[in-house]
Amino acid sequence: MKNRFTITISDVHGVRHYTFNQLVKRFFWWVVMGLVILAAISLALIWGLRQEVQLLQQKRAEALARYEQLLEQRAGELSAYQAATQKLQQELDAKGQHLENLDAAVAALEAMLGAEPEDDTAPLAQRVENLKLTMGEKRYLLQVIPSGRPVQTFKGVSSSFGWRKHPVTSKREFHKGIDYRGKLGDKIIATADGVVEYAGYHKSSGYGNMVLIDHAFGFRTLYGHLKKVLVKNGQVVKKGDVIALMGNTGLSTGPHLHYEISFIQRSLNPAPFVAWDLKHYDAIFKKARHVPWDSLVERVKQYIQAVAPPSLPAMSTSRAN
Ligand SMILES: [Zn+2]
Repeated sequence: MKNRFTITISDVHGVRHYTFNQLVKRFFWWVVMGLVILAAISLALIWGLRQEVQLLQQKRAEALARYEQLLEQRAGELSAYQAATQKLQQELDAKGQHLENLDAAVAALEAMLGAEPEDDTAPLAQRVENLKLTMGEKRYLLQVIPSGRPVQTFKGVSSSFGWRKHPVTSKREFHKGIDYRGKLGDKIIATADGVVEYAGYHKSSGYGNMVLIDHAFGFRTLYGHLKKVLVKNGQVVKKGDVIALMGNTGLSTGPHLHYEISFIQRSLNPAPFVAWDLKHYDAIFKKARHVPWDSLVERVKQYIQAVAPPSLPAMSTSRAN
């Protein structure tokens, strides 16, 4: 027991002896215990803080999710609204387009028939009838406005006015005239008095040898695919004059006459003009509706009265039918 350091403690319970070794051991034990407790407290604190952080993070995530959800909802509402607006606009556009298409279809149909709606011009026929044309006035109109057939001998029609597949190009196109059957050399006649505007070969139109005649009041007639042209530019022709011979020139598959009537640049269906005569006089006013018949007829009446007053019965009663 050399150099052993001893501490003696005496109190009411008695006397106790502690060796230095024991004291050191105890001291270390307390230190270790203290450290363990400190560590435990720290761990508990850390755990607690971490819990709190986790809770906060969770809350933040929840808030963020809620916010995003709200945003999404708003975006959804907005896009739904935008989609609804767009749909409405599309419907409006479609309606507009539909109306335009309808208009175009009606216009095409009118162009094809060479007619406008009944109601529009129903009073026109009435107005023309009210003008009560004399025989002289009727004869004059039939002389200066295209009427009757452009062929001296009728051998049938191979193609009428309207949409068709072109016999040479096979393309769908609007046939602006009537095609008359016949033989090479058949006589072609002018359908009204007028002045020859064009006589000769016309390449770009495909009509080959062609005659174009200017008539009174804005009418024109065209005669195509001719074998031989018998008139010259600027020549004045009379209704019934032989102006050409039937041929097969230009874009044509066989001998025929292509006959067109136009009124101020607009192609008209020639059929009612071909059928127009003294016996079937009024039909033309209902069928060729793009022509301002009432003002035209009134002008003719004034002209006839000026050159042959009705008091002279010569023009109005003679040669009826
Ligand atoms: Zn034709």
